[in-house]
Amino acid sequence: MKVTLRKALQDGTKLLENHHIRDAKIDAMLLLEFILKVTKVEVLVHGNKEICSQAYKEYMYNIDLRAQRKPLQYLTREQEFMGLTFTVNNKVLIPRQDTEILVEKAIELIQLHPIDSVMDIGTGSGCIAVSLCHFCDDVEQVVALDVSHEALDVARYNAKHLHVEDRIIFIQSDLFESLDSKYSSSVDLIISNPPYIPTAHIKNLMTEVREYEPFQALNGGEDGLDYYKRIAKTCKPLFKTKGYLLFEIGYNQKEEVRKLLIAEGYQNIEGIKDCSGLDRVVLGYYQAE
Ligand code: GLN
Repeated sequence: MKVTLRKALQDGTKLLENHHIRDAKIDAMLLLEFILKVTKVEVLVHGNKEICSQAYKEYMYNIDLRAQRKPLQYLTREQEFMGLTFTVNNKVLIPRQDTEILVEKAIELIQLHPIDSVMDIGTGSGCIAVSLCHFCDDVEQVVALDVSHEALDVARYNAKHLHVEDRIIFIQSDLFESLDSKYSSSVDLIISNPPYIPTAHIKNLMTEVREYEPFQALNGGEDGLDYYKRIAKTCKPLFKTKGYLLFEIGYNQKEEVRKLLIAEGYQNIEGIKDCSGLDRVVLGYYQAE
């Protein structure tokens, strides 16, 4: 059977459309680029170029996985974040554009204040820790924690490939449980995009997220606030005499998070919205008595 690039693209698009994948044509093209190692321009200009049956088979195999709602990023194994290319697999949450708001706020804080030591709780792919090192030369050290050693493997790989591995210390720990006491009073900024979906809501998420992304990276407990409570309460001894706590939040969690930060003694609570006007980030300032 003779198959051209154009025919493969048509077949891929059609199958995805039949399965109601929203951006069927875009996903079919991206998978073609990834599997055939061609560029979009080559596909468009040299659509008549024949491809071997093995490549076609592999392409349609991946199309089929996408049709079953496997996220495209778990097939291509990459996601762009803050203009950098991160490698991902199904052991880590796919970095979201929303999280760029969190990182941008952290960069702003680092530019305005003497912040040289950062801790990233639940680093996942490492997108936050790596971006901060990439964009902020002033940051001497980021301690990146995750409970999953498989996630840490991905984060380490990203740090190495983006040339910041000498400034990040990766530690497997359930929040601060396995953290050495030498990290007490050592941090200026604690940042986290913790799991924040209420458990009962997970079943309503898109199949791509619900079935394929790590449950552990999504599940925020009964009210979605488990990690905000645990982190805000237990991270205080890690700050030097003062420090900042910066969280990504769900669009309807600002009030609750603000209240619990105040209850834990944080001050100057600030909320930051995303481009759609939704609350996305909360910042608190901590000063030891
Ligand atoms: N820090 C990672 C990210 O923002 C992982 C977050 C998570 O797993 N909840 O993508």
